[in-house]
Amino acid sequence: MEKKNCWEIKKCGREPGGARSRELGVCVAASAMSVDGLNNGSNGGRICWAIAGTLCRGEVTGLFAKNEVSCMACEVFKLVKAEEKADFIIWKSDQTCESQVMLRLLMNNFARHEFQR
Ligand code: SF4
Repeated sequence: MEKKNCWEIKKCGREPGGARSRELGVCVAASAMSVDGLNNGSNGGRICWAIAGTLCRGEVTGLFAKNEVSCMACEVFKLVKAEEKADFIIWKSDQTCESQVMLRLLMNNFARHEFQR
């Protein structure tokens, strides 16, 4: 089964050549070649939560740009995590220890939030 990138799941049109890329610009997740292949995605298409400055919901989000638990609640994150199972990669190899700790804290907060619902 072909694995989908975030722009194919969210249908944002902000990938190169996408329906909204000329109007709104290409999202950094779709053009991040340094993370190509991670979680079997194209560029940052399956690790967008770890990329600062993504453009979901029409505003800047992503790690460190505007840190939100909402990335952990996103259907992309959940789908990639479920599909990759033990091979799931949560952060880029060049991310600092601090960012990895922050991501872990976010994950723990989100897990607690989900558990309490
Ligand atoms: S991170 Fe969001 S805005 Fe950026 S390509 Fe993926 S779905 Fe679209």
